[in-house]
Amino acid sequence: RLVRLRQRLAGSNALGRGLLGLLSREKLDEDTWEAIEDLLIAADIGVAPTQELVERLRTRLRVEGGQAPDARTVLREELIELVDPTMDRALQVSGEGDVPGVVLVVGVNGTGKTTTVGKLARILVAEERTALLAAADTFRAAATEQLATWGERVGVEVVRGPEGGDPASVAFDAVKQGVERGVDTVVVDTAGRLQNKQGLMDELGKVKRVIEKQAPVTEVLLVLDATTGQNGLIQAKVFSEVVDVTGIVLTKLDGSAKGGIVVAVQRQLGVPVKLVGLGEGPDDLAPFDAAAFVDALLG
Ligand code: GDP
Repeated sequence: RLVRLRQRLAGSNALGRGLLGLLSREKLDEDTWEAIEDLLIAADIGVAPTQELVERLRTRLRVEGGQAPDARTVLREELIELVDPTMDRALQVSGEGDVPGVVLVVGVNGTGKTTTVGKLARILVAEERTALLAAADTFRAAATEQLATWGERVGVEVVRGPEGGDPASVAFDAVKQGVERGVDTVVVDTAGRLQNKQGLMDELGKVKRVIEKQAPVTEVLLVLDATTGQNGLIQAKVFSEVVDVTGIVLTKLDGSAKGGIVVAVQRQLGVPVKLVGLGEGPDDLAPFDAAAFVDALLG
């Protein structure tokens, strides 16, 4: 997995290489520190975390006689700390007893929601769990078809409703079937229409309520496109304000130089990144791990 992460983050490790290059300069003068700050900001880490990191690096790399500490080791440790290795990133996909766990997948359209639901189903199957998918994104015309295709691809059944139908009724039907069949997990794709906040709140609230009449929502995953940077983050924040998000899926991290968004999103939403999307294929979803991610960044 680490090897895959390294390969896929080829774009992001420009950040790691850039930082290592600057830190290996003979003299760490003000210009160098400024260039380091610029690199971190450009990678979407965010202003406050950038300043904290630079402060810590400056302190730890200050040479006071003796031997200079190894810049790579210090940078690695500080980046891991920034990504926070202590956050609980385990996916909650199991219900209680015979009742399935329900994973609700939310986020703005185009971020990779439907694709993530398909890939997540693949992971569940690989873990020998039984799953059912709900095509509750009834607004985007192609979403249901797209999810049906994913279902066939990964061998998981998809419960669908009429186009333009009520998303909550599709979610209700899917969870009902999940309960009747005793499946382990129901994954619900939702519509990501970013209308006004009230509309979104009403819609997702209703979806959640009808599910919870039958089974617990064990995980609410917010999907965020890494390439959209701070803008995408502002939109994602709206979702976190209307529904209790329990984990973030950061998609399109492959080939993006914006890996720093991991830090920004965790800081701003207070929720761990649990999964990362590294491509369009069925196996391109990986559990997120702070140390593995930083190692991939540093190449
Ligand atoms: P939705 O509207 O949020 O459901 O988004 P889709 O699942 O339809 O995804 C939008 C586009 O992004 C599709 O072309 C996907 O193949 C692509 N996509 C999704 N996740 C990833 C990823 O991790 N990496 C890359 N490179 N593309 C992705």
